[in-house]
Amino acid sequence: MPTATGFEDTGPRLSCHAGVRPWASPGHRDGAYDPNMVDYDATTALLVVDVQNDFADPAGSLYVSGGERLVEVVNGHVDRAARAGAIVVYTQDWHPGSTPHFQKDGGVWPVHCVGGTWGAQLQPSLRVVEHGDVIRKGTGGEDGYSAFSVRDPQSGVVSGTELDDLLRRSGVRGVVVVGLATDYCVKETALDAVRRGLEATVVRDAVAAVDLEAGDGARALDEMDDAGVVLSDS
Ligand SMILES: [Zn+2]
Repeated sequence: MPTATGFEDTGPRLSCHAGVRPWASPGHRDGAYDPNMVDYDATTALLVVDVQNDFADPAGSLYVSGGERLVEVVNGHVDRAARAGAIVVYTQDWHPGSTPHFQKDGGVWPVHCVGGTWGAQLQPSLRVVEHGDVIRKGTGGEDGYSAFSVRDPQSGVVSGTELDDLLRRSGVRGVVVVGLATDYCVKETALDAVRRGLEATVVRDAVAAVDLEAGDGARALDEMDDAGVVLSDS
């Protein structure tokens, strides 16, 4: 299995996709459970958000409860997406050792996902596809909640990551978001996708919440639902 470091050497590689079919079937908003609801094809991208040791391992510095159990569900989606010719993109929170993002430097969070450390590595059980792309967020000291954009915590300036370009070059129309955490990076990524005119689906059983305050995860799902994000199950 290639490591994140391996990706760094190879850079983004996009597969050629052919064929277009409707990405989303009608009825998504009915609330009815449909086992086929998440349907991957070449116009869909699976975004695997921040399944990294610091979030997904009980020994991680910002462990999200249930993070390690989630990996198996996420792996199922990686397999389905890869089989259908969908692009799979992995994100990593990837911070410098000091950043206003961290409590010790005036921010909110304990130190986590410092670039190059164990905590920043993808959780080792996570299935990584050969031609997957990796987006690293926060490398310049920014807050990096959305996979599409980062924000300077001091100036408030928002700048884009390479994800939007990558998806558009590949003819992607919809994204499926899985990973960590529901109330931060999953939410911001899904909302950002909708703002950019992409269809966005969040798989409820393939995400988990930090829940700094009880109910944050549920409120995040409501907020996404209100914004037009499709909430689905595996
Ligand atoms: Zn972070």
